[in-house]
Amino acid sequence: EAKRNDKHGWRAYDPSMTDQRTRESILADLLEHAVDAGQLSVHYQPIVDLASGRTVGVEALARWQHPDYGFVPPSEFVPIAERSSLIHTIGMHVLTEAATQVRAWQTRQHADPLHLSVNLSPRQLLKPGIVADVVAVLERTGLSPAHLTLEITETAIVDTERAAPILAEFRALGIRIAIDDFGTGYSSLQYLLGLPIDGLKIDRAFVTQLDSTTQGAAVAEAVVRLGQILGLDTVAEGIESPAQVAELQLLGCTSGQGYLFSRPRPAAEIEEGLNLIPPQTVR
Ligand code: C2E
Ligand code: MG
Ligand code: MG
Ligand code: MG
Repeated sequence: EAKRNDKHGWRAYDPSMTDQRTRESILADLLEHAVDAGQLSVHYQPIVDLASGRTVGVEALARWQHPDYGFVPPSEFVPIAERSSLIHTIGMHVLTEAATQVRAWQTRQHADPLHLSVNLSPRQLLKPGIVADVVAVLERTGLSPAHLTLEITETAIVDTERAAPILAEFRALGIRIAIDDFGTGYSSLQYLLGLPIDGLKIDRAFVTQLDSTTQGAAVAEAVVRLGQILGLDTVAEGIESPAQVAELQLLGCTSGQGYLFSRPRPAAEIEEGLNLIPPQTVR
C-alpha cells in the first residue's frame, strides 16, 4: 500500500517522510491539479455583529482535501501556492465559489444582505489586472461590490507605493479593504494608516489574551481605539470565550468571528445560523 504510486506518479504518502523540502515540492506539484480535480472547497465562518449578536457576514476560507494526503491546511498550502502563480488560480476559484454562494444566500434573506470577506494574498494584490479580474467575478456572479471585503495582510502592503493605487481602485468601485492579522506585522503605523482602507482585523493572538492581564489585552484595546479614531471597522478574530466577547463589547469592537460562534464550515452547515427563508418558499 505504501509503495503504491498515485496517478501523478508520486509515491503514496509515507508518514516517515520527514524531509520538509520533499513534502513541499510534492504538495506544490499536487496543488497544480487540485482546482481542476475538484479537491479545493470553500468553508465559511460567520462574522457576528458584537452589539446585536447577528451574523452580518462570512469569511471564505480555502480547504484542500487530497485523496492520498488527506486534509492539507491552508497554513501549509497557501504559502506554497504563494510562491507561484497558483495562488491566483486558487484565489479566483475561492472568490468565484464564495460570491456565487453568498449571492444565493442573499436572495433568501429577510433583512440586510450578507457580506462576504475573501483573503487576497500579497502576490495576488500585485498581479497586473487583479482589479479587472475581481470585477469580472462580481459581474458573473451578481454579487455587489458593496458586499465584498478583501482581506489583505500587512506584508502585502509593505510595498506601499505599488499597493496604495490598487487599493484605491478597489475602493473606488465600492469594494472594502481590511487589514488582516493586524498587529502581527512589522509595518509602520504611519504608512499603514495612510492607506485607503476600511477596517482592521485584530489577530487571534491578541484576542486570546483578552481575558488575561497580559500585554495582548492592551494590544487589542489599542487596535479598537485606533480604529475608532480613524473611523475604521474593527473585527476580532479567534473569539473562543464569552469573556472575550464581553471585553470586546466594552471596548466597542464592531464585530468578531471565532469558534465560540462557529468554526468555518461548508455552506450547507452554516445556513441554519443565517436566518434564511427556506428554499422551497423562494420563487
Ligand atoms: P485568516 O485569514 O486570518 O483566517 C482566520 C483563521 O483563523 C482561519 O484559519 C480560521 O479557521 C481560524 N480561526 C477562526 N476562529 C478561530 C478560533 O476561534 N480559534 C482558532 N484556533 N482559530 C480560529 P484557516 O482557515 O486555517 O486559514 C489560515 C490562513 O490561511 C488564513 O488566515 C489566511 O491567511 C489563509 N487562507 C485561507 N484561505 C485562503 C484563501 O482563499 N486565499 C488566501 N490568499 N489565503 C487564505
Ligand atoms: Mg482573513
Ligand atoms: Mg485573519
Ligand atoms: Mg489571523
